[in-house]
Amino acid sequence: MNIENLKKVDPDVAGLIEKELERQQTTIELIASENFTSEAVMEACGSVLTNKYAEGKPYKRYYNGCDNIDKIEELAQKRACELFHMDHANVQPHSGAQANMAVFMALLKPGDKVLSMDLSNGGHLSHGSPVNFSGMYFDVKSYGVDENGCIDYDDVERMAIEHQPKLIICGASNYSKIIDFKRFREIADKVGAYLLADIAHIAGLVAGGVHPSPAGYAQFVTTTTHKTLRGPRGGIIMCDEKYAKQIDKAVFPGMQGGPLEHIIAGKAVALLEASKPEFKEYAQNIVRNAKALAQGLLDNGMDIVGGMTENHLMTLDLRKTGKTGKDMANVLECVGITANKNTVPNDPQSPFVTSGIRLGAAAVTTRGFDEEAMREVARIIAEAIKNSDNNAALTQLRQDSLKLCKKFPLYAQYSRAGQF
Ligand SMILES: *Cc1c(COP(=O)(O)O)cnc(C)c1O
Repeated sequence: MNIENLKKVDPDVAGLIEKELERQQTTIELIASENFTSEAVMEACGSVLTNKYAEGKPYKRYYNGCDNIDKIEELAQKRACELFHMDHANVQPHSGAQANMAVFMALLKPGDKVLSMDLSNGGHLSHGSPVNFSGMYFDVKSYGVDENGCIDYDDVERMAIEHQPKLIICGASNYSKIIDFKRFREIADKVGAYLLADIAHIAGLVAGGVHPSPAGYAQFVTTTTHKTLRGPRGGIIMCDEKYAKQIDKAVFPGMQGGPLEHIIAGKAVALLEASKPEFKEYAQNIVRNAKALAQGLLDNGMDIVGGMTENHLMTLDLRKTGKTGKDMANVLECVGITANKNTVPNDPQSPFVTSGIRLGAAAVTTRGFDEEAMREVARIIAEAIKNSDNNAALTQLRQDSLKLCKKFPLYAQYSRAGQF
């Protein structure tokens, strides 16, 4: 990470960036929506492309001087379409939430009905939460998961028939089972609804062939690029050709101004990386590692919502320990493990306290953690929760987590690496 100029111009920001690098290198990252992008992606994102205005689409811009930008954005679009087997891609959404917003804008009028997964059951804010634009301007009905953490497809169908939504959304932020896109499409067809598959969390697994693809089932696919896909922070919308114009218009001028072409270049690089055989191996390793973590937790007497995970994440169910997600996520931070509190199905605690912790394997798999390392992570988590009031035990567990970080270095070529 070359920040020599930054150190001279703004030592405050430079110092904090170095500290953040050190934090990432010396802690175990289990936040299921995070990952470590490549140096190549970061170089593209940190480039002179940040200087360019390029409102419009490739070769149809409102500004001059876009020759190079056009080619870069076109590459990103082409690579997205090839990787996910979709007709059309708009790579301009600044984030996953904005990708969803554009799909809502393209298809719906305020007040139209939407059927999506409830936020506290694993859905996303932008799928219709009352505090989000999606819940404020649209009539949202939501489906949940059963006690085993599974979508009840018959119940989704029953709700679709009852409410006759114009749009059905599948895809989640906290769901550990394979999503049946075919079944969702059948339900959508039955009531004449569009189907949006939001694969923000599982995009890398889909690209790597370890989760079924929504292509051929969902007319609209949205994703983030920074979760399992391991690119820069951002969003992408993909759709059937016949909706391309509608979607593009919703993104610009409907919702956004100038696209972030430096980030789009980063997306192009990440999409290229995700098309390589090594990425398939990475995706397989994520799922293998998630299963090893889940099995390790079960072996240590912990509960997991829905039992064994089928993808990259799981929710630790703390109900029988009498401890809360909020407190235990803080205890895990003390022992060098970063994760977030999360509700479990029928959680007796409020969403601010919760009885669960969401854990994901994508980021640690990037730094090379193997199944043995995941079993050690599971032991550290279980011990930390059991000994949450024992400072001596927590201090020892922090040493254990540091040992794993040293064994699997991250961004080793950057400054500070190896100094801890
Ligand atoms: C993370 C996520 C998003 C939002 O992505 P942002 O880039 O944070 O806006 C949307 N949908 C799902 C399912 C997600 O998990």
